[in-house]
Amino acid sequence: MKNYKIAVIAGDGIGPEVIGEGVKVLNKVAAMDSGFRFDFTYFPWGCEFYAKHGKMMDDNGIETLKEFDAIYLGAVGFPGVPDHISLWDLLLRIRKEFKQYVNIRPVQLLKGAKTSLVDVKREDINLLFIRENTEGEYAGAGEWLFKGQPNEVVLQNSVFSRKGTERIIRYAFETARKEGRSLTSISKANALNYSMVFWDQVFEEISAEYPDVETASYLVDAAAMLMVKDPKRFEVVVTSNLFGDILTDLGAAIAGGIGLAAGANINPERKYPSMFEPIHGSAPDIAGKGIANPLASIWSASQMLDFFGYESYGKQVLDAIEELLIESKILTPDMGGTASTSEVADRIIDLI
Ligand code: ATP
Ligand code: MG
Repeated sequence: MKNYKIAVIAGDGIGPEVIGEGVKVLNKVAAMDSGFRFDFTYFPWGCEFYAKHGKMMDDNGIETLKEFDAIYLGAVGFPGVPDHISLWDLLLRIRKEFKQYVNIRPVQLLKGAKTSLVDVKREDINLLFIRENTEGEYAGAGEWLFKGQPNEVVLQNSVFSRKGTERIIRYAFETARKEGRSLTSISKANALNYSMVFWDQVFEEISAEYPDVETASYLVDAAAMLMVKDPKRFEVVVTSNLFGDILTDLGAAIAGGIGLAAGANINPERKYPSMFEPIHGSAPDIAGKGIANPLASIWSASQMLDFFGYESYGKQVLDAIEELLIESKILTPDMGGTASTSEVADRIIDLI
């Protein structure tokens, strides 16, 4: 029997509430198949840990995590710990150390999910974002000059290496080819006159290797507008770290809300563990109330199943989410219902 070792970093706020439900779903799936099981190990890292130890995770945290097949993450960040610390010391660190350079975020309106857009058909909202996840605007390079003085200047550099840019764009082309869908590149070469000119150039170069894949290219501002006005023109989308971050929050809003939006941080070479997480944050405003929507975490669990090669189980979980949405009876308050986090997950488990 295959035994998958999963590191669980439930994190802060609603993180533990939603991840706990995702774990139940994964266990349910494993119970249906005698060929594999999941072995979960919990790490108490996050802002509470920071309050006690002055750091978000153990010093040897990365070494420890290396031994796992995947990481299942809730959310990190809580009032009292500056966001840039909680993010850099844990989430971005894991993404970079484990070369999880692909962030896959489906912006897909599931059956039964409600969009905030008017006049669109459900099928029109079926985008697959492939976001660069380890460099670009989030490279962490910069300088703070003359701090606190009147002539203060702050520099925040973007880093687009040829290797980093080629590999994400190539991954996107491979995905588009495999799915038989078009690929859209989103950049901003008119204003970002180094980084995005380079990005567009690499996109052009690599597209020559994929004559069978239909391509399009948009400026990020236009893309934001078009995602609202005419989302059907996008299928597979490749974009930079920052643009992907912003556009997928917009994507969540048009595809059923932030409580439903899932993401996978993938190391395609599988040399290091990949990480699965809802795209939402720790939501301090609703933490501890038992009303957080667990569907985003459950969808990420479905992505994990796909990643391990159990696509039919992944689909079964996604089908269960759709069925729950169609029933429209057991939903958390963010989706207009009155159910609790665990009631939603329990129904998903029944439907599976
Ligand atoms: P981050 O900086 O980590 O992205 P954030 O503060 O920008 O975090 P979230 O924590 O995602 O944003 O919360 C934004 C809003 O969405 C909050 O009002 C929160 O209550 C709501 N929200 C987020 N996730 C969920 C969820 N799973 N279920 C219900 N509401 C949610
Ligand atoms: Mg946010």
